[in-house]
Amino acid sequence: MLKLMTNLALTAILQFSTSVLSQVQAETLWPNNHKVAISLSYDDALQSQLDNAIPALDQRNLKASFYVVPLSVTFKKRLNDWANLAKNGHELGNHTLFHACKKSKPYRDWVTPHKNLDDKLVRAIVDEVTVANTLLNALDGESVRTFTPPCGDQLAKDGNYIEAVSEQFIAIKGLEDPNFARIIAPNNIGAQDIIDFIEKQPKNVKLINVLFHGVGGDYLTISKDEHNKFLDYLLTNKDKYWVDTYRNIMQVKLKAQ
Ligand SMILES: [Zn+2]
Repeated sequence: MLKLMTNLALTAILQFSTSVLSQVQAETLWPNNHKVAISLSYDDALQSQLDNAIPALDQRNLKASFYVVPLSVTFKKRLNDWANLAKNGHELGNHTLFHACKKSKPYRDWVTPHKNLDDKLVRAIVDEVTVANTLLNALDGESVRTFTPPCGDQLAKDGNYIEAVSEQFIAIKGLEDPNFARIIAPNNIGAQDIIDFIEKQPKNVKLINVLFHGVGGDYLTISKDEHNKFLDYLLTNKDKYWVDTYRNIMQVKLKAQ
């Protein structure tokens, strides 16, 4: 009887320890006890990102991920600038070669017929993604990379292409468990709107993806001032937030699994 009780007590202690341990692990997933990781993305290889976002980030020593479209005029014209930002610790992420999106979705009048994902085969997107990776590797020498699907779309003409490209990446942005990660794509909103979004998240959310496009120009824009204000907020709260490239953040997460 005594032995049974001892065993029961031991089991209870073990269960309690395991649950405490997993709580501690959940609390300390990120380096230096940061509660939340923040991944800043700048998509589509836009001029205002090189002219406005990069200086603002570098001034504050914050690292971000740039999901470039090699077809972009700014990518072609300023190849050295993209290579340099990678040398400086930012990430060049894969966003396919041609940025195909589904024309069949609402407000997609801007999608040209030859870049319509509704008409593309999975195999064609896999080829695009593969060539984009080769091109980015030539630019930054990296073989570990992450991917953001253009427009967040997944369905090509003959099926979902995400699984077919997933082996080429350590992580795909926007497809994380919503209990773990949330996403906000600022468009004509201010720093405080992004801050409110971050601060209202429940404790279980450990990663916030902030997806920028234009910064003080181009499209889906945030003004330079509001972008600066947001970066300053991240610096002021650097004990709480770990700001780094999506690649670095997801590498830590993968090691913890
Ligand atoms: Zn895009």
